[in-house]
Amino acid sequence: MRALKFLAIVLFGATIAWAKPTIYILATGGTIAGGGAGELGTNYTSGTVTVDKLIAAVPEINKIATIKGEQISNIGSQEMNNEVWLKLAKRANELLKSGKADGIVITHGTDTMEETAYFLDLVVKSDKPIVLVGAMRNSDSLSADGPLNLFNAVNVAMSKDSVGKGVMVVMNDEIHAAREVTKTNTTSVDTFKSPNTGKIGTVFYGKVKFYMAPTRKHTKNSAFDIAKIESLPRVDIIYNHSNDDPDFVNTAVANGAKGIINAGMGNGNPYPSVLEALSEAVKKGVIVVRDSRVGSGETTAGGEVDDSKYGFLTSDNLNAQKARVLLMVALATTNDKDKIQKYFLTH
Ligand code: GLU
Repeated sequence: MRALKFLAIVLFGATIAWAKPTIYILATGGTIAGGGAGELGTNYTSGTVTVDKLIAAVPEINKIATIKGEQISNIGSQEMNNEVWLKLAKRANELLKSGKADGIVITHGTDTMEETAYFLDLVVKSDKPIVLVGAMRNSDSLSADGPLNLFNAVNVAMSKDSVGKGVMVVMNDEIHAAREVTKTNTTSVDTFKSPNTGKIGTVFYGKVKFYMAPTRKHTKNSAFDIAKIESLPRVDIIYNHSNDDPDFVNTAVANGAKGIINAGMGNGNPYPSVLEALSEAVKKGVIVVRDSRVGSGETTAGGEVDDSKYGFLTSDNLNAQKARVLLMVALATTNDKDKIQKYFLTH
């Protein structure tokens, strides 16, 4: 009897040990789901291949995990919008919270992948892995990168080492943290970089290795919660240059922008007439955050611009598109400028 009991426990234990993790693939579109290509894979259309076909194209992932697919949208990521963001974040939150998913992979176009990644990093309340993945070459192309990227993404999403690392982007054998990663090359497969900190890990044919972990507040420790966000306010980015004029700032304010990210020159310096328009915007209640068009480094408070005199906030070292995401999420919960500045220094 005792021996039988022992055998049952061993068999039960073995079953648990062999139970495959459940990974949900939430598909949003992009080149990884692109098709209808012409010669050598050019002239294709993003977001034409469905999630079932994406999964069927990489049968190896079914051997390592129980894969479930859901189509959230099927768009080129230049069409990404608040509605899809909210739907995606709420679904990811629900799947992880309910225990239905051990990890989530999101297939996404590369154009705005960094923005969606950071949005999810700020609002989803789980420390289980969420991985965004895409492709620079569509499936009809020579040396398409999508299948191996997807295989690697599933491996990162099911790795115990990924727990607590926040939302990640997996492309071209590299793992990047959502807050840091940005697209740096229009066409190369080696396009995703983290200019301020570097990648946090690598994944080589499914073998996951981490070297660093993000320390800014994210997911479970973030001040934000997708359960409390139903809409996002308008925040515009103004890109500055020599011989600029204030028209875009004034237009943003006239059209109801609640916040402006000013991608200034160098250490966030605006052209004089733009500076004046931004100052007027603050007086009308718009939250103005000084950022830089440079692409790396901190926009330091009170450098050549007296931020306390004008009432501007600064973005730390976020690029303009990331700063926009944080300001939208912050403004969805508060108008308190001190609080918002603190978010920029902690998230
Ligand atoms: N515009 C497409 C997108 O972002 C192409 C970029 C890609 O997926 O690589 O969806």
